[in-house]
Amino acid sequence: MRFGHRKGRDTRITTHVGLVARAFGADEFILANTDAKGPLQTITDICSRWGGAEFKTGTVTNWKKAITDFQKNGGVVCHLTMYGMPLSDSLPKLQQHLGQKKNLLVFVGAEKVPSEIYDLVDFNVAVGNQPHSEVGALAVFLDRLLDGRPVEDTSRFSDAKLSIVPQEHGKKTLEKT
Ligand code: SAM
Repeated sequence: MRFGHRKGRDTRITTHVGLVARAFGADEFILANTDAKGPLQTITDICSRWGGAEFKTGTVTNWKKAITDFQKNGGVVCHLTMYGMPLSDSLPKLQQHLGQKKNLLVFVGAEKVPSEIYDLVDFNVAVGNQPHSEVGALAVFLDRLLDGRPVEDTSRFSDAKLSIVPQEHGKKTLEKT
């Protein structure tokens, strides 16, 4: 769940949060507290060309209800914040929870997030205690949580119309008919 979106300023960042979610192993991207549609449209377009029709995108207006409903259904909510607990300490605890096949919702902000989020969530996790970016934080978090599997798995996105043949130099893209 991406909370907030500053129109103009955040257009690419919000899209990139969604694209990182898709590429690094999430099933869904939820945009909260904004009526912006552009990022969701771009992510859907990417999915139609590069695969991932099953990757869901959506919006919620009542972000707090969405979070508490998710928890009531047995899900675990993790807020990425530079004020949280170190990633290395948090991951084993989080993985223990998720071992029981629970769903995980990762919450990232744009600008300042509501202070109540810190108490509402199950985990506040810092990817280092320095300010950086929701895109960077999400990528590192998912990569560490999933041991790099989604980004290494070339069989993901089997419905893609386009795929890349890795090259040491130059570019090669295959278009499926
Ligand atoms: N000054 C803002 C605040 O008070 O939250 C920071 C906003 S930062 C540009 C946007 C988002 O990036 C934050 O809401 C958080 O989700 C994420 N973020 C930035 N640095 C982080 C860090 N060191 N660890 C985890 N998440 C971070």
